[in-house]
Amino acid sequence: MLDIQSIREDFPILASQVHGKPLIYLDNAATTQKPRSVVERIENGYYHVNANIHRGVHFLSQAATEAHEEARKTVQRFIHAYSSNEIIFTRGTTEAINLVASSFTEACLCEGDEIILSEMEHHSNIVPWQMQAARKGITIKFIPVTETGELCMDTYRSLFSERTRLVSVTHVSNVLGTVNPVREMIDFAHSREVPILLDGAQAVSHIPVDVQELDVEFYVFSAHKLYGPTGIGVLYGKEDWLDRLPPYQGGGEMIATVSFEKTTFNELPFKFEAGTPDYIGSTAFAAAIEYVEKLGLSHIAAYEQELLTYATEQLSAFEGLRIFGQAPDKSAVLSFLLRDIHPYDMGMLLDRLGIAVRTGHHCAQPLMKALGIEGTVRASFAVYNTKEEIDRLIEGVDRVAGMF
Ligand code: PLP
Repeated sequence: MLDIQSIREDFPILASQVHGKPLIYLDNAATTQKPRSVVERIENGYYHVNANIHRGVHFLSQAATEAHEEARKTVQRFIHAYSSNEIIFTRGTTEAINLVASSFTEACLCEGDEIILSEMEHHSNIVPWQMQAARKGITIKFIPVTETGELCMDTYRSLFSERTRLVSVTHVSNVLGTVNPVREMIDFAHSREVPILLDGAQAVSHIPVDVQELDVEFYVFSAHKLYGPTGIGVLYGKEDWLDRLPPYQGGGEMIATVSFEKTTFNELPFKFEAGTPDYIGSTAFAAAIEYVEKLGLSHIAAYEQELLTYATEQLSAFEGLRIFGQAPDKSAVLSFLLRDIHPYDMGMLLDRLGIAVRTGHHCAQPLMKALGIEGTVRASFAVYNTKEEIDRLIEGVDRVAGMF
């Protein structure tokens, strides 16, 4: 259905060589490569539509403002938000979670209140909460992960108490690939009148997301994992929730009036967007979404599942190979260890063969501790990867195995 060769041609970097070998890029969970249309949107923005937005009466400023606000609507359409007021541009997933952690804690949490996270969270969905918890005396509870890399749902339900104020969990694990049962989790949280934040950093490039259908209070993600530029991402929040939260940062753009005595704040979404936003990045972000929509997220997902199944089968044939994350519903992430070969050794030797994989704790040290390991080797796939590349990965792993 998808013409992978022609898709590859959209990504000039894929034709490059590393250590004299053709690049095989399997580090897509860290960041994806960018198609020409995204890079051209950046170039076009700076060459032809560059002026600071929102405050200008002149032509260029208005054109740049229009492009930025169109990009917001593209994001709104992509995740099926009710209103573009619910789309807050941030620097990425991390900043979006910090924003909610800070503003939600300020407005909604008191000493002794509890929030629920999971053991499989990325550091960016742990540390901001710990910082706020220390400030206000809040308890954090963690949903444990089973041997197959799934959330223990019985424990999830049992963690709720009268003091539970928020659940914040990842939609898809960046280490295990597990697609969490978010429907069930949201329904249960709502039955206890608890709002929920989903970290969609690893989800949006693999799974169609409809925030209204999910009925989720907050959803966050980064453009750069979705074939878009670095330094920009999104906080989606239901409008009534965003209205209730205080601003995160102060400065220009987010104010209505300022006097020496007092400031009144701007309306949504600007209340949460202090300072000059990345108005070039937002338009490139929109180009990335248009690119994904053109290919069709369901086609992308089906193709990536083929790659995942193929790679899992091939890798499983190695004696002494352990795969971390065996959930039936998995995205295209494959974390493994071979015998006692250190992940860094495997990663460095694969790199000499032109193969880019990620090694280490993947910003999930608590999960590593729960799994009783220091780190893994992680191959993660995107729409431009091929079975031939997986064959090269398998040959590479075989070569490394022979060296130890
Ligand atoms: N959450 C998850 C699940 C991730 O995989 C990542 C990045 O790897 C992040 C959050 C942080 O994203 P960013 O660094 O783009 O803010």
